[in-house]
Amino acid sequence: MSSSVANTYNRNPITFESGEGIFLFTESGERYYDLASGIAVNAVGHSNKYLIDKLTEQAKKLWHVSNLYRIPEQELLAERLTNLTFADKVFFCNSGAEAVEVSIKAARKYHFSLGNKNKTRIITFEGAFHGRTLGTISAANNPNHLEGFGIPLEGFDNIPIHNIKLVNETINETTAAILIEPIQGEGGIRTIDTGFLKELRKITEKNNLLLILDEVQCGMGRTGKLFAHEWADIKPDIMAAAKGIGGGFPMGACLMTEKASNGLIPGTHGSTFGGNPLGMAVGNAVLDIIQENNFLEKVNTNSTLFHKNLKIICKNYPEVISNIRGKGLMIGLECNIKNTILSDELFKNKILSVGAGENVLRLLPPLTISEKEILEITNIISKCCENIKNKK
Ligand SMILES: *Cc1c(COP(=O)(O)O)cnc(C)c1O
Repeated sequence: MSSSVANTYNRNPITFESGEGIFLFTESGERYYDLASGIAVNAVGHSNKYLIDKLTEQAKKLWHVSNLYRIPEQELLAERLTNLTFADKVFFCNSGAEAVEVSIKAARKYHFSLGNKNKTRIITFEGAFHGRTLGTISAANNPNHLEGFGIPLEGFDNIPIHNIKLVNETINETTAAILIEPIQGEGGIRTIDTGFLKELRKITEKNNLLLILDEVQCGMGRTGKLFAHEWADIKPDIMAAAKGIGGGFPMGACLMTEKASNGLIPGTHGSTFGGNPLGMAVGNAVLDIIQENNFLEKVNTNSTLFHKNLKIICKNYPEVISNIRGKGLMIGLECNIKNTILSDELFKNKILSVGAGENVLRLLPPLTISEKEILEITNIISKCCENIKNKK
């Protein structure tokens, strides 16, 4: 494709002109079910009227002032997020990678400010994805993402998941924190056992380490709780959020307990755009919707139906789909064929999906997906599996 855009993506050559709810439309009016949601971003669907109104209202008043001044919309969203979670403090930024970066910096600075200057190392896990900055690729340690970019950033101990003994063996006097996604997204919708998360919480408490969760993909209602760690009934010290939190407006946030945020005094970290009035107006609007009565309840009942129907498909077409992974509307289809064969077939039948590690295909619909849409979609997926089976 001849384009002046940098060549970093393998793009599907299709273009979309508009969207509405779960649907995307091409210029010629072809309609697609969007089960990619811009990679778990369009949490409340495309062209959400309430979001448009709130964005437009703010756009007419004030877009940006920088963090040299107080920003009431930012203070409001921070207060709401802290009221709803373990956190006492929120730092706003513009993306998931930035939210993870400040999480790492906060953890190191916390120990530094207590005089523990050597406590800088962070334990991370194989299969993780934390973003594409030098810090976050070093944390995740995926060789495909590191290759050619020089010496990885020092200070990460990357180990396999679900091995508590190894976690204990890896901890030493230089360890500052443990960083983990409660459900690995890019890695292949690998759900971390709640028992393992609980153990990590215990170990970090025992060893005076901070527990950092990366909920950039699994947070903001995606699993049927506001944040996925609530299923494990644990509280982290620091958490990175992004993707769904802006409903399509680029936004990230690092949530921290008072204690964990102690090192981040004025001048230690910053962002020009983070938390600007325009972004915050949208962030508050997304939260208005997710906090509505029954919103998360509906995510839970609808996703239960979705999983149930997908399990039936899996049973009928084991040669195509061998297992269903994930929680809520963060769904992984474990493929018995190459996952691109299934995504291509779904695409031909006007369903958008996203690939992931371990030959998994991700379904990440807007959280506003309806029962009717789930039934339509699972019918199409079933038909796609039949087509693939017949071609085999
Ligand atoms: C997408 C993602 C990131 C990175 O977010 P960006 O906005 O692309 O920087 C970090 N962590 C997880 C778990 C993600 O899914």
